Amino acid sequence: MIYDCIVIGGGVIGTAALDRLARYNLDVLLLEKEDDVASFTTRANSGIVHAGYDCEPDTAKARFNVRGNELIWRDAEELDVPHLKCGSIVVATAEQKNRLEQLKQKAEKNGVEVKILDREQTLAIEPNVADGIQYSLYAPSAGIISPYQLAIAYADRAILNGAKIELSSPVTEIKKVEDGFTVTTTRGEYKSKMVINCAGANGAQINELAGAEHFETVYRRGDYYVLDNSERKNVHTVIFPLPTAAGKGILVAPTADGNVIYGPTAVDTADQTDTATSRESLDSIRANVPLSYKSAAFNKCIRVYAGLRTLIGHDFVIKQSDVLDGYIMAIGICSPGLSSAPAIAEYIEDMVISKLNPSKKENTVCIMPRHKRLMELGDEELDSLIAKDSAWGRIVCRCEKVTEAEIVEAIHSPLAATTVDAVKRRTRAGMGRCQGGFCGPRVMEIISRELNIPLNEVKKGGGASIARYRVKEVE
Ligand SMILES: Cc1cc2nc3c(=O)[nH]c(=O)nc-3n(C[C@H](O)[C@H](O)[C@H](O)COP(=O)(O)OP(=O)(O)OC[C@H]3O[C@@H](n4cnc5c(N)ncnc54)[C@H](O)[C@@H]3O)c2cc1C
Repeated sequence: MIYDCIVIGGGVIGTAALDRLARYNLDVLLLEKEDDVASFTTRANSGIVHAGYDCEPDTAKARFNVRGNELIWRDAEELDVPHLKCGSIVVATAEQKNRLEQLKQKAEKNGVEVKILDREQTLAIEPNVADGIQYSLYAPSAGIISPYQLAIAYADRAILNGAKIELSSPVTEIKKVEDGFTVTTTRGEYKSKMVINCAGANGAQINELAGAEHFETVYRRGDYYVLDNSERKNVHTVIFPLPTAAGKGILVAPTADGNVIYGPTAVDTADQTDTATSRESLDSIRANVPLSYKSAAFNKCIRVYAGLRTLIGHDFVIKQSDVLDGYIMAIGICSPGLSSAPAIAEYIEDMVISKLNPSKKENTVCIMPRHKRLMELGDEELDSLIAKDSAWGRIVCRCEKVTEAEIVEAIHSPLAATTVDAVKRRTRAGMGRCQGGFCGPRVMEIISRELNIPLNEVKKGGGASIARYRVKEVE
């Protein structure tokens, strides 16, 4: 068969694009090299929906961030993705006030509503700002979202609307042929009229494979502390320091799933797979957080993690190739790429429509079924669910209160969760205080049972094994 479009890469950009294209009478396929979508940068970032005040005016970043902020709340509602429009503040001392004025001017150029607040007004929004803070720039349109759940939900809806996703399928070759492209993965060969490169950190390499434009890439790692959900009550908004040339700085923020994060750092690295935190980088978070936030609680840390920014020059590269007809790239999507994703997808949709001129499908899924979460159920509803399915009465993850029923639902969702990490991203089982110490083996048993595979074939994610063989069966 000949596909109309092949999307390479299942991060938030590729899945958002697939979700839009699935609404047309088009055969669309997404190829992802890992065993789940949202497996690289999209799973490890700050999860902030930026307002768009600090992007350089007249850049793609400014344009897509501001439009993305308009669209993302609608998408989160339609897709039932955890989110909260809690606003953000950039904090400053009295001597730094003029830098807030400069940011405000940028915001005005970008069409973003902001307000400079004095200390008293700032404390009304965030009582825990550091004692030296006298002013802040408040952006009411900013907020938080679960980045991986957004990408997963885009993928699920795209599948329900007829798109296909092939996981564990790294693209190894792209050939331009007369009527399109032949795309080869380690698992097969596919033909398509158009190719859309959303391969994140590997975006420039995919361009090389296809013979499209050449770009130099810079990678910048960001490390984080994740705090126990008991800290959530202390953080009411996203607290940024003043931005620097390296980025938006080390923030304090709630997460959409109920934790708190401190980070990220900005460490340049030559290794495009570098997601290991370092002592030095984490120490710089310890040194910086108290400058903006007075209730730092590093003793409540339950995990550290790192994500990798991919930078190509100073802006996103989102365009139809000048040298390869039918080849679109959305690469170098560093921050604010998550916030911009729905707007980038909309732009990709426009480019595909103008090339293929497809008609819209008559019936498509728009509102996704609500995920029932134990933590959000009242006693009556829970009792009636247990009466129909006893799995609702079995709590598997004690820290995050996730039931067996929620895990089973994730395993049988449109894009099936087949690994422990994939279940974790969909249900939060394993994301709490014990980090899967108690529930991990139980989740493995449920995956093994539901997919009818031996326990030692259940992977952690990213191909990593957990159990190798049954100890008692080894000679
Ligand atoms: C530390 C940090 C903090 C950030 N904070 C924010 C924030 O708060 N707000 C915000 O808006 N943005 C933020 N961002 C930016 C945001 O995370 C990214 O812009 C976004 O996740 C990029 O998505 P993507 O789809 O381009 O890349 P990815 O999520 O990396 O997806 C690319 C996918 O392509 C796949 N792939 C690669 N090569 C191949 C191949 N050969 N074949 C098939 N598949 C392939 C990869 O496995 C991957 O799944 C942050 C980024 C970082 C690193």
